[in-house]
Amino acid sequence: MKIEIPKLHPAVLYGILSALRAMDGLEYRRISQEFGVTVESTGKLAKTGSLLGDMPFRAILEDLKHNRQYSRIMPLAGSETFHFLGPAAIRPALRFLMSTFSVRPASAVKEACIAAGRLSTIPGFRCTEKGRDFVIEISNSIFVSGEPSEFQTCGFYCGFIEEACAHVTSAKIGITETACASVTGGTICYFAASVK
Ligand SMILES: [Zn+2]
Repeated sequence: MKIEIPKLHPAVLYGILSALRAMDGLEYRRISQEFGVTVESTGKLAKTGSLLGDMPFRAILEDLKHNRQYSRIMPLAGSETFHFLGPAAIRPALRFLMSTFSVRPASAVKEACIAAGRLSTIPGFRCTEKGRDFVIEISNSIFVSGEPSEFQTCGFYCGFIEEACAHVTSAKIGITETACASVTGGTICYFAASVK
């Protein structure tokens, strides 16, 4: 079996560290000392746009999974990451459309998935329309490790995609993970995107 190591945009780590700093300052200081990374240092790296190997991301993620607030920290991390990247995360063609027309929720969700897909080299995204709502499938999520987990681990994508949608459309779109590969042991995580 060929194991592919993902490369990540440093803005992912930046988002995780800033969310952790906002929600659990003590843990932020511990992790930042242990792994030698800070919000500022990852922010600087993220500005260069070059991709990182999966360390120390992987080690920090595994450490954070023991934090009782993990499920609250990660959606905030996703939205912090989108905020950091700003309009640059959206493809220029859609940025142009947004300035002229109102963007349909379907296009917004698809664009948000494209933006999320560019954060790392591995996950595959599929977005299917189901009436007014959407099902998003993410294969090989970077937040799933080999270890089985009792809770869903990919809230980062919920926060990131919601924030990206809020940026491109006036429709309110909520994202929830409905089945996570960390829990099911599969390779695909399922998300529901609903237009409120
Ligand atoms: Zn998941």
